[in-house]
Amino acid sequence: MGSLNTFPLSYKVQGLRIVIVGGGEEALNKTRLATKTTAQVVIISRHFEIDFSAHPVECVERAFVPSDLDGAALVFVAEESADADLAKAEARARNIPLNVVDVPAECDFYTPSIVDRAPLTIAISTEGDAPVLARLVRARIEAMLSPRIGKIASLAGALRHQVESLIQDGAARRRFYEALVTSPEIEAAELRGQGPEAADALLARHVAATSQGVVWLIGAGPGSEDLLTLRAQRLLQEADVIVHDQLVPDAVVQMGRRDAEQISVGKAKGHHSFSQAQINTLIVRLANEGKKVARLKSGDPMIFGRAGEEIAALRKAGIGYQIVPGVSAALAAAADTATPVTLRKVSSGFIMATAHGADDSELNHWAALAQSGLTLALYMGKSIAPEVAARLIGQGANPALPIGIVVNAGRADKSTYSGTLGALAANAVTFVDGPAIIFVGEAVEAGDWADAAQLTGMSFKVA
Ligand code: SAH
Repeated sequence: MGSLNTFPLSYKVQGLRIVIVGGGEEALNKTRLATKTTAQVVIISRHFEIDFSAHPVECVERAFVPSDLDGAALVFVAEESADADLAKAEARARNIPLNVVDVPAECDFYTPSIVDRAPLTIAISTEGDAPVLARLVRARIEAMLSPRIGKIASLAGALRHQVESLIQDGAARRRFYEALVTSPEIEAAELRGQGPEAADALLARHVAATSQGVVWLIGAGPGSEDLLTLRAQRLLQEADVIVHDQLVPDAVVQMGRRDAEQISVGKAKGHHSFSQAQINTLIVRLANEGKKVARLKSGDPMIFGRAGEEIAALRKAGIGYQIVPGVSAALAAAADTATPVTLRKVSSGFIMATAHGADDSELNHWAALAQSGLTLALYMGKSIAPEVAARLIGQGANPALPIGIVVNAGRADKSTYSGTLGALAANAVTFVDGPAIIFVGEAVEAGDWADAAQLTGMSFKVA
């Protein structure tokens, strides 16, 4: 971290004047900022090129005079003129902070990019020449915060004393406030004008839950941090412990709170790992210790994530849980290859299936898949791809059906392969390392597989 040459702060302007010298576009920009405040905004110029009448400002169409700065908290100079020079000199003589538009060297202060959710304001400042960065960050923050968060923050203010007396633990209190300002139900209630009632109900629930642990089964998506949902990100920030699978990349785990404990229950092929029973016991134990547990699974937790067993264990132990969906690998693979897995007149649905087949109904599994006529997204099939293709053909699937394989879907290092079911059955392909989705079906042809290694006829060649 470098040392700052400017100090970010919030400056009181209530009851004071903000003076803007200039009558053009730049003056209008500063007017928009200044009128966010309760200060009296005065614009002085000999020539008004723009109509300011839509703004709550006082327009003074004449030469600048020093007494214009009486009672001024801030001065913006937004034109180049003799008046402007006089205003600058006068502001400096009176020690009133001065901003000269587009002339950083002459500025005492800069205006930040503002995210306005009164009573909450978020100001984003950059030193030097990084306005683009500030705008980008601002856009991200805007997208993260509900337009109603200011109103909801007022609810928090109204409840402060109650919260302090009812919830002693600091972390639990923080969790309540976070839930208050981020939960969709509070926002919806706020919209209906029932914010205070909903906030009371939420507080009651939190008071009841403070001493109890909870497990969040969170979908981490296919492996890129920016394919996490905002909810997943928020809960990761709240968790005391993060219990994650091998397939969840470190970058995603690192989205968690810095001081959260991290436990890898790795299910990597060929490595010793926790058994499912041990994982169930672990999350139950952690929650019983009163911890907030983020059980982070790749993709979506409800799809081939053994969530069923973990949920059953939590229910049996009477532990609260919540499921946060994630982008499943097949959806990332479809996006990577622009493959519409459902397609009018071609495929009326799509099936996410394991390439291993349930042990006790194996024949049914393959027959159902082969005869569905739908797009198949097969999980866990890379190492047995030729056998999978042969089984489908054996159950009546057309060997000419297009297939597409995406390894490391949703990640920067994805690799793709395409061809037909027959070609896949006939080739011993060496794929790159990483988890893979195998698509089968007519709709695959509609995707963009231009960069894919081609699997043709009996031979396999890399594009
Ligand atoms: N719950 C996960 C699936 C876990 S099962 C989800 O919804 O995506 C593990 C299988 O998922 C892997 O064998 C592979 O078939 C698939 N998989 C997981 N991540 C993947 C990725 N980034 N790219 C391709 N396939 C992936």
